Amino acid sequence: MTGVGQGRRDELAATLARVRSRIAAACAAAGRDPAQVRLLPVTKTFPARDVATLVDLGLLDAAEDRDAEAAAKMAEVAALRRAAEVRWHMVGRVQRNKCPSVARWAAQVQSVDSARLVEALHRAASSAMQAGQRQGALGVLVQASLDGDPARGGCPLPELQALADRVAAASPQLRLEGVMGVVPLGMDPGAAFAQLDVAAQRLRRSHPAAVELSAGMSGDLEQAIEHGSTCVRVGTALLGDRPLISR
Ligand SMILES: *Cc1c(COP(=O)(O)O)cnc(C)c1O
Repeated sequence: MTGVGQGRRDELAATLARVRSRIAAACAAAGRDPAQVRLLPVTKTFPARDVATLVDLGLLDAAEDRDAEAAAKMAEVAALRRAAEVRWHMVGRVQRNKCPSVARWAAQVQSVDSARLVEALHRAASSAMQAGQRQGALGVLVQASLDGDPARGGCPLPELQALADRVAAASPQLRLEGVMGVVPLGMDPGAAFAQLDVAAQRLRRSHPAAVELSAGMSGDLEQAIEHGSTCVRVGTALLGDRPLISR
């Protein structure tokens, strides 16, 4: 590789090293094993060749927040790195009419926040499996809303357990893997992650295999790790600033 490609590779290698050392330092401060915290690159708005470069740097997970962008990018990455088995994650709001597509490309959907969405994903995953378009269960995280504002996505905390029960009942097409959360605008991240941690622990009591807590992004991953995050979703700290478009 030469020219622009090599420059971008060096850039991403450097930002990856910085993010990894932030994770390591946060784990050390919290007395946690860094192997318990997965780095999930959020590649929305960035091109397939960046995902391919991250694959070259050893990252085999990528997250997107829109179905159409994800499906197209996944096909491009598959053409660029034929041997790589990238696991794609959906972290954005899912419209029910997009479920058939999402069930074909996603290994995990982190943003499941309503019973209607569970039903739609269950049907879509069943059809995709029957058609040979997916192997294995669709992983699901239930997304908690910490401010109870339905406009911003997420399930209110008092309803989270019942939603998780519905996902678990949709086995074997869906597999309940844990909880995801985003800090509401204007809320203290420490307080938000503490609430999320309590919700995740409660859920684990009835669903012991649902061990994942997806919490923390570029700006607040340290606080999330302090409060038990097992998956930090990192976009800008890894890939740079996204274009200022409304998403
Ligand atoms: C975009 C996005 C991220 C990444 O945010 P950064 O601040 O760029 O790290 C994480 N989680 C979700 C749900 C997102 O939509």
